Amino acid sequence: MTRPTASSKLSSVLHQRVLTRRQFLQSVLVLLGGCATARGPAGTEPTSVAATATPPPTVLPQLAHFSGDFAFHHAMAQMQYVPRHTGTEGWRKCGDYILSQFATQGWVAEEQPFVYQQTDCRNLIGKRGEGPLLVIGAHYDSRRRADRDPDPAQRTEPVPAANDGASGVAVLLELARVLRPEDLQRTIWLVAFDAEDNGGLDGWDWIAGSRHFVSTLTQTPQGMVLVDMIGDADQQIYYEGNSHQQMREQIWQVAADLEYPAFLPELRHTMIDDHIPFVQEGIPRLT
Ligand SMILES: [Zn+2]
Repeated sequence: MTRPTASSKLSSVLHQRVLTRRQFLQSVLVLLGGCATARGPAGTEPTSVAATATPPPTVLPQLAHFSGDFAFHHAMAQMQYVPRHTGTEGWRKCGDYILSQFATQGWVAEEQPFVYQQTDCRNLIGKRGEGPLLVIGAHYDSRRRADRDPDPAQRTEPVPAANDGASGVAVLLELARVLRPEDLQRTIWLVAFDAEDNGGLDGWDWIAGSRHFVSTLTQTPQGMVLVDMIGDADQQIYYEGNSHQQMREQIWQVAADLEYPAFLPELRHTMIDDHIPFVQEGIPRLT
């Protein structure tokens, strides 16, 4: 996840007080997810990870830039909680960690409780800024059983969800440290969606949290960017078939200008993910 070249360029962008639309796109480039497969095999990630990454500072440094090391720390912090599928103790503690990080970095931290399948759920939202609303999202729940694991012995085990879960939220939490919505003249909501990843298990569907979130919106976001599976060791970020064509072309072009090799401007995947409820509302969105 660490790309020093990208970070130094991003730093120079963030040094400017007022960011243009193009500069804003540069600032979000580091968080775009490249979904590896459309609902690929689950349960293939390591079951334990040492939380040895550098923790981020608790006070906003001036002129901060996105740190892959800090994002990695946030991923490792979530990995303390396995399992963390909706309703478990790990899920509750992980959610509390996310909310505390939003608040620590100067965002208004809110939880949005709802009930799905007789289970208490909650989306977690960090709000900041004024102006047109932009939503940047990721899901923080995990899959309760690795039912598609190649090894049959693993198929009743919970998915650790380092990449498919923790990595996207890790990017949100590092963004909470570095993004300045007031400089962008936008309202930004960082949303950790619940109940995304248990489709097909025990009567659950996919993306229940984002469906609930969109159903409660009282203002229409200008755009939505979703990050998921952004922590691959060999990350490749392709166009996604349900994403907004113009938005993805703009962002991939900025990536090309910045010489980010992971961004590949060709369609590879079409996903059911938390951007779909936004698609159905006609909101520009990108995965
Ligand atoms: Zn996912």
